[in-house]
Amino acid sequence: MRAGPADAGCPRTIAPIIAAMSESPTLELACGLIRCASVTPDDAGCQSMLADRLAPLGFRAESMRFEDVDNLWARRGGDGPLLVLLGHTDVVPTGPPDDWSSPPFEPTIRDGILYGRGAADMKGSIAAMVTAIERFVERHPEHRGSVALLVTSDEEGPSVNGIRRVIETLGRRGEHIDWCLVGEPSSTDRLGDTVRIGRRGSLNGTMVVRGIQGHVAYPHLARNPVHDLARLLAKLADTVWDEGGEHFPPTSFQVSNVTAGTGADNVIPGQAEAVFNFRFSTRHDRDSLVAEVESACRGFGLDCDIDWRLSGEPFLTKPGRLIEAVGSAVVSVVGYRPELSTAGGTSDGRFVAPTGAEVVELGPVNASIHSIDEHVLAADLDRLSDMYERVITDLLAG
Ligand SMILES: [Zn+2]
Repeated sequence: MRAGPADAGCPRTIAPIIAAMSESPTLELACGLIRCASVTPDDAGCQSMLADRLAPLGFRAESMRFEDVDNLWARRGGDGPLLVLLGHTDVVPTGPPDDWSSPPFEPTIRDGILYGRGAADMKGSIAAMVTAIERFVERHPEHRGSVALLVTSDEEGPSVNGIRRVIETLGRRGEHIDWCLVGEPSSTDRLGDTVRIGRRGSLNGTMVVRGIQGHVAYPHLARNPVHDLARLLAKLADTVWDEGGEHFPPTSFQVSNVTAGTGADNVIPGQAEAVFNFRFSTRHDRDSLVAEVESACRGFGLDCDIDWRLSGEPFLTKPGRLIEAVGSAVVSVVGYRPELSTAGGTSDGRFVAPTGAEVVELGPVNASIHSIDEHVLAADLDRLSDMYERVITDLLAG
């Protein structure tokens, strides 16, 4: 089945041909969201569509715009415990639209598969969250605690004015999150086979080693920073930072760029530069890694400056109510138990975990995310919505 041509701007109603799919409100909403060309940080109207859905259910929908980033905080209930469903409406650029089998912002179903930018990452999940909330509220209007939807439009970008700023705001207000279910596409081969219960930390550094420029024929009058840098990098690359743990692979140090030299073959350059990254387990944090690298620099007696950029500290959600609820929801819907993993890239869960919340990611199969012809099994969206509803019910039905 093929959707009608994309409307100008972002439609609030779904084109008639998609209405034919109204036996699945989740699929219908996912299609509506995909039609909004919301490339980071442009939300393109997605969040107002979500707010319009939730407001009649008794949610207090608040749009929080920081700089050029739209965020939506919609909460139902004033008491704890607070369960937050977390996602993002922004998508990565499409790449050449002509390389797609169908236009990237025109949701298209072929052989039971929904194609479109954001289908898997993560407009399908957001649609599943909203319809799960709708059914839950209808069945449990007097639920305990609070349920909230938190959505940003810069998860795929710098992640500065999105969830990070919203969490700061909620913290100032004393709105404490107990559980956070993230809709990132966590599944590997089939829906629910993997859920993420933590993430490795990521720390980048740019190191500049200064020497003394000179003629290669007179090395005693120069100091070669390439040789110094090479010795230091060899030591760091050989270091066993830790052995990993039950849920984490060993911490890894990787060099991504090395630059030095004047281009001439008879000049010892004045400085050399390396860019590197740590992916690290909860056995380390930013400060411990910085201290070890700086001590190695001192050990070699180097004149060295390092510019550090932390993408996120690692986190691990301990076994508790949320992991339990997610595990049994997956088993109830698909019949198998998910693997608990910390692999993959970073997500906005890294900004929520430090508040003390339990954070778990459960979403569709991630094989096609960020690719040409991004897609998701259409039937998976209903199953995912069912899983989300079971988690909410388990935690808040009362
Ligand atoms: Zn994502």
